[in-house]
Amino acid sequence: MTDKHWQSAFKIVERLREAGFEAVIVGGAVRDRLMGLPAHDVDVATAALPEEVKSIFPKTADVGIAHGTVMVLDPAPPVEVTTYRTEGTYTDHRRPDHVEYVTSLKEDLRRRDFTMNAIAIRGDDTLYDPFGGVEDIRRGIIRAVGNPDERFGEDALRMLRAVRFAAKTGFEIAPATKAAIARHAESICHVSVERVKMEMDKIWTSGRAGLAAQLMAETGLARHLPLMGQAFSSENLGIWQLFGEPMQPVEGWALLYRLAGEPDGNPYKLSNAEKRSVRDILDACRISLERPYSRMDAYRHPETALIAGARLANLTGKAAEQDDPGAISRMKKSLPISSLRDLAITGNDLIKWSGKKGGPWVKEWLANIEEAVVIGDLNNTREDIKGWFLNGDESEGQR
Ligand code: ATP
Ligand code: MG
Repeated sequence: MTDKHWQSAFKIVERLREAGFEAVIVGGAVRDRLMGLPAHDVDVATAALPEEVKSIFPKTADVGIAHGTVMVLDPAPPVEVTTYRTEGTYTDHRRPDHVEYVTSLKEDLRRRDFTMNAIAIRGDDTLYDPFGGVEDIRRGIIRAVGNPDERFGEDALRMLRAVRFAAKTGFEIAPATKAAIARHAESICHVSVERVKMEMDKIWTSGRAGLAAQLMAETGLARHLPLMGQAFSSENLGIWQLFGEPMQPVEGWALLYRLAGEPDGNPYKLSNAEKRSVRDILDACRISLERPYSRMDAYRHPETALIAGARLANLTGKAAEQDDPGAISRMKKSLPISSLRDLAITGNDLIKWSGKKGGPWVKEWLANIEEAVVIGDLNNTREDIKGWFLNGDESEGQR
């Protein structure tokens, strides 16, 4: 997010105004700007209908046309422009599948979740804040717009968003809003796993996962989400307090699995890459609990997994490996090779030097050479490896 996004958004607001349509900047970007934080995306809301937006701007993409959103590509960088709307009927505590366009900005802001997310900036840079969002930001309060019971009844994800914003900002959830979350906690199970996962990813990296865990336990949200009741039990809350700000969200999932047990399936639909990373971290964690990392451990596991694994081991048990990312990085960097491809020789060299036919022995020998190089017994040069291979043929080769 850069000033360019803001400039682009202001230009779009101006052009819509010239074409006779009210338009403002809304949503998270306004909140983040008022808090002095960098925003991710600057959104524009307008009284113009999607078709009208498309006729005003030469280059657009239909990113969310069903919800009234058109992506304006020129001026660049792209900005999402959404027609003022309310949301239709809610079934099953999920987002509605259709929307109704309205002409009043206030009506559009009314359907938004929290007062701090219901502030608009006009083209002349003045604020429109009918629900007291600025004051709530000043006081550090997350408050539902309107009646919290109704709002959480409409879309249960908002409860988790409240927790996520609390974790991101350190703000307090207003007592009436929090009490309503406790009353509606059970309905979180109707929200799609994908949406829950997105919120949790942001919670893990917020720097205040401990606060989120406590809020989820207190309000009962945790009990209605897979693994979280167990992972956020009172004896585990202290661990989440110390969890701090991890490098990547997978560390949060790894800690969740470590505390609640690895699930049989994939309840949060982690991607294959994420599953792999979580597995790597948990493997490294298990090693850390047993012994300090050996050079072979450092060689076999990705650096991020070694660091995260040592961290989790120290957080959750009596670790043998110290939680010292610098030392782990240095050990990883000091390795003479980082994969078999870095060896100065190949299997073909071994076949040539031995005069034997290829077979499973080649792979075994490569593994021996690889290990000897990694642990520092053998230099990674053709001459040294050849000597070691030919002389050690009877003795060491049989290891
Ligand atoms: P982020 O910093 O994660 O982008 P955000 O507040 O911008 O946070 P978005 O999901 O980008 O969140 O949504 C943009 C705006 O749309 C929000 O600021 C809020 O006004 C509104 N909004 C988003 N999700 C909901 C929801 N579930 N219920 C009501 N309003 C919502
Ligand atoms: Mg946003």
